Amino acid sequence: MPRTDVMLADSQLAAAQEKLGRGLVKAAVASAQQRVREGLADPDDAVDAALALLPATASGLKGVVNATGVLLHTNLGRAPLSAAAVAAVSAAAGYTDVEFDLVDGQRARRGRTALAALAQAVPEAGAVHVVNNNAAALVLATTVLAAGKEIVISRGELVEIGDGFRLPELLESARCRLREVGTTNRTTLRDYQNACGPDTGFILKVHPSNYRIEGFTSEVSIDELATIGPPVVADIGSGLLRPEPLLPGEPDVAGALRRGAALVTASGDKLLGGPQAGLLLGDEDLVERLRRHPLARALRVDKLTLAALEATLRGPRPTLHRSLHASVGELRGRAERLARRLGSRAEAVPTIARVGGGGAPGVELPSAGIAVDENLAARLRSYDPPVIGRITGGRLVLDLRAVEPDQDEVIAAAVEHSCR
Ligand SMILES: *Cc1c(COP(=O)(O)O)cnc(C)c1O
Repeated sequence: MPRTDVMLADSQLAAAQEKLGRGLVKAAVASAQQRVREGLADPDDAVDAALALLPATASGLKGVVNATGVLLHTNLGRAPLSAAAVAAVSAAAGYTDVEFDLVDGQRARRGRTALAALAQAVPEAGAVHVVNNNAAALVLATTVLAAGKEIVISRGELVEIGDGFRLPELLESARCRLREVGTTNRTTLRDYQNACGPDTGFILKVHPSNYRIEGFTSEVSIDELATIGPPVVADIGSGLLRPEPLLPGEPDVAGALRRGAALVTASGDKLLGGPQAGLLLGDEDLVERLRRHPLARALRVDKLTLAALEATLRGPRPTLHRSLHASVGELRGRAERLARRLGSRAEAVPTIARVGGGGAPGVELPSAGIAVDENLAARLRSYDPPVIGRITGGRLVLDLRAVEPDQDEVIAAAVEHSCR
């Protein structure tokens, strides 16, 4: 058995310690020795075995190929960052001028260029602010506008986002009372008017981003709510700044402001296609009050988020936009090329992709992919990088809509490897 200290002194494993730290390399060495003990590796190949077991980075987070056909998959980190955003994150990773003016050498407003990019993208907003996520944006708005007061909200909009995260519970945690109005399927302007009074902090309009109510329904638009008096806060969820023709049911920030919302909250990592963040846009005085509240400090975003958000707003179209707009013909061509290459192991199939929990419930995006033996699922998940598909009709389908074209090669190699 090769000794641990001898293996660690090997030049390649020594270089790996510089990159990954001693702990991770030692763990890989221990696993390699175990493989030798079990007769799975030759003692002479122990160093190679350890090198093969090293993680790509010093973080346990692994990049994966999202072949689920769900563009925004919360379990898979929602929106992928664009190359421009990744470059901006990397450039901001060291010391940066995030709160420093390089011209006069004085302290400057934190993240001012990112905030300027957001304000420029939505001229309808009097001011903008960015916090950790949309949940944080709602907590901040509630704390500033409705602590000790009531939030008037329709019973049809008491949303659970996922993983037990319930919006009503979040709001109540900020010391306000919920004044529920209407019914699950129908709420009228009169319902809101009757509930509003001196105790009203604001009226909350929540976009149902992961379900739909159909049939005998009615809801009240932001325009109408804005006539009642109290400020209207609109949680649009998805983060679309402008309307997206492919998703006509999804509200956008600019539209909500034009209709009279005093404040709009949204996520950065859903349809905007950027990093996790909570966007707050609206009346100048109101946003200023949010910004100055002590809680704002606890919810503030770091320099990496600011960098990624600005590059998403200013840079080329984010990856998510490309996935959303890829033509089905192009996807079919890619699926057929993959199927030809993989022969009997795969068949090109038409599929239906979805936006996912981040928006546009019920919207079907025609797509294409390959179907392979469902027993390959676990092996594809353990491939490097892991390839994640979905099981449909007894087969594993690898949908290409959320897959970058240059990852097709990875999928082919992963299937070939898993079929061995
Ligand atoms: C996703 C979503 C949230 C939560 O947003 P996070 O950025 O995950 O905190 C809140 N409200 C709506 C309507 C949503 O769609």
